[in-house]
Amino acid sequence: MISLLKIYITSGVKHHYKDETNRRIMVVNLFSAVGVIITFFLGIRALIGLEFPLAAILLTASAVFALSQRIQIQFGTRRSRTVSITLLITCLMVLMFLLLITGGKDNTGPLWIYLVPPVTMFFAGFTRGLLALLLFTIACTLLFFVFDESLLIAPYTYAFKSRLLYSFLTVTFLSAFYEYSRQKSYDIALDLSEQFEQQANHDHLTKLVNRRGAQTALEREYARVQRGDKRFSIAIADIDRFKSINDTYGHEAGDDVLRKVSLIFSERLRKQDILARWGGEEFMFIFPETTAAEATQVLEELREILSFSPIAIEDSEIHITSSFGVCEVTSAVSLADGIRRADISLYRAKESGRNRVTVFTAS
Ligand code: GH3
Ligand code: MG
Ligand code: MG
Repeated sequence: MISLLKIYITSGVKHHYKDETNRRIMVVNLFSAVGVIITFFLGIRALIGLEFPLAAILLTASAVFALSQRIQIQFGTRRSRTVSITLLITCLMVLMFLLLITGGKDNTGPLWIYLVPPVTMFFAGFTRGLLALLLFTIACTLLFFVFDESLLIAPYTYAFKSRLLYSFLTVTFLSAFYEYSRQKSYDIALDLSEQFEQQANHDHLTKLVNRRGAQTALEREYARVQRGDKRFSIAIADIDRFKSINDTYGHEAGDDVLRKVSLIFSERLRKQDILARWGGEEFMFIFPETTAAEATQVLEELREILSFSPIAIEDSEIHITSSFGVCEVTSAVSLADGIRRADISLYRAKESGRNRVTVFTAS
């Protein structure tokens, strides 16, 4: 029974939807189920009691509640969800309005009015919910105090009508406030989780993508290579004799140099290329859909620009160079092997004198 209820409530929920969307879908399922059951039983009771107009209203409402849930499940689109929600709210409000006019069972119909604000806010959200409730309040006010003679069937006293409206407005205000704070907290939580995600993938010193972020990008590129018969190139750059900068000018100056080198690299990269801080003074380049020869061309240019760009430290200016190891990745090599090969090429670049770009070769 419980699992059946669970299946019913989660029908239409999809993993790739936003949490907020899934929440609305579940609320629609739940509410329409409750709506169908209550209106159906009350409708049958009215039918037995020979109260035909009331029975007709309730049974129609029951059918509309069921229909709105089916629309959401059947089509599963954003538009169908909006139609479903609009139908539910309209049905609820029309039902309520008719209950106010007829009085329902022994004039107890108005009691259900307190369902309207929370349900509307739940479904429509703060702004649209408030607008819908405003229209509903205006309609009720007109019914009670302008068209009461011609439309109202149930005999309400002036005190009853005015107190009903006041209390309805109070519940509306509270529901709106609740929905507003709920949306705000949801937005804040979303913002925070995006911020954490950003921090987890970025290096705070250079603001570049960090090793974790680079790994994700590498896996994405590699998956693309495996899907189509494509290739991409990677390169690892390691600043030459960086230790001596730290030793001469101090660690802070070393940090500053890292920031400046990362700027020089990233400013001149093509839009599609990715630059990451791979380790201490090592950078990873990812060149999508690029051969090793094309990547080498870009890197040669970067290498030259870096070696000619004076970098200011304290009162002096120094020149920095970097070595680069390049490797082309196709589906014939594993990603780990591709990275290893770039590392081997870097080692060779260092061995053969630094300040150069070396492409991986098997020998
Ligand atoms: P090579 O040309 O062989 O690469 O020489 P190197 O001195 O650059 O190589 P080595 O690996 O011996 O030294 C790297 C230095 O980079 C050591 C470490 O203190 C420094 N380093 C690593 N990360 C940071 C950092 O975040 N900030 C600073 N200031 N220094 C760092
Ligand atoms: Mg190093
Ligand atoms: Mg180094």
